[in-house]
Amino acid sequence: MTSLMFPSAVLISLAWALLPGDGDPHPASIPVRAHAGNPALVAGSYCIKRGNQPEIWVPPGEELEFRVEIDLGPLGSASVGTVVMSSGVEPFLRGLPLPGETPMANGVQVAWVRSVARGGHLGYELNHSITTRFLPQEWPALLNFEVQTGSENRKRELKIGRREGAWTSSYRGNGHCKKCSRREHFVEALLPWQKAHHCKRCKRAEHRLWRQPSCRPVPAETVDVLGAVYLARTLVRSGLDEIDLTMLQKSDLWNMKLTRGRLARIDSHAGAFECREVQLSVSQPEGESGGSKQFSGLFGIKGAIKIWIHATTGVPVLIEGDVPVGEIIDLHARIKLVKYSGTPSGFSGL
Ligand SMILES: [Zn+2]
Ligand SMILES: [Zn+2]
Repeated sequence: MTSLMFPSAVLISLAWALLPGDGDPHPASIPVRAHAGNPALVAGSYCIKRGNQPEIWVPPGEELEFRVEIDLGPLGSASVGTVVMSSGVEPFLRGLPLPGETPMANGVQVAWVRSVARGGHLGYELNHSITTRFLPQEWPALLNFEVQTGSENRKRELKIGRREGAWTSSYRGNGHCKKCSRREHFVEALLPWQKAHHCKRCKRAEHRLWRQPSCRPVPAETVDVLGAVYLARTLVRSGLDEIDLTMLQKSDLWNMKLTRGRLARIDSHAGAFECREVQLSVSQPEGESGGSKQFSGLFGIKGAIKIWIHATTGVPVLIEGDVPVGEIIDLHARIKLVKYSGTPSGFSGL
């Protein structure tokens, strides 16, 4: 173990998302156009149908804890944080209740998956969560909510689904208020001849406002980053050779190919498992331009990403790849299973 200068940008991208503690931001105003009914429970997991494309399987009540380790060559490795991936189901609520009304569940379940990353180094603190819900309706069919707290604060919301029959996405994030008359956004004058003035830029969460959403057409059955991870699980669980998918990060579209690799024994902090390698490769779709055009990878890992997935149940055991640190250096990162609960039956060590 050693102390590592860890630039905040890497920790930011190491990060992932959490649910908002203070009320659900899901707008009630969007009409529910169609109703697909309860996701089917097959062999203990909820099955999310995706037209004629591979389905997503969500185990209810699964929790996987990983340790994030960065390889430092002769210096050994440094543990920089944890990632917890979990999933479950909750009642599907149609919109928000009117004041005084109790939200009524209609007996339909919503499957959700979540990843929470916590880490810190040299005073930089990170708590970043992503929650994705697969909703039994056309719009939004996928709702992704991302919250980062700690040294920096941000929220992001991504919706994907069919609107008026056309596949569409809507993305919005929050940012620092540019200028307004709210006194709580003002900072006190430091010098006698100055006046209190609107804060120009700070990291306070309460100074951040939602930006206008941006919408765009997307290919059918486009998923977000967590959807892509769960499709890697599908590839192994269903014995497929490859899966081609389109994935959205903010408003940027990416083609992702998941390829089935070799079988190997993988050692984790939770024991050794027989795993199948799944390689993820990302490319920019033809005609895609604009946007931030920067694929931020999985947990900050870029380039060749590998996920080692338990050969029969589809539970991820190890994620590995390179994390860029600054302009020149790439460090090898490993996200290794530490403990697990609620995993599909048949998930056990060698
Ligand atoms: Zn303001
Ligand atoms: Zn401010």
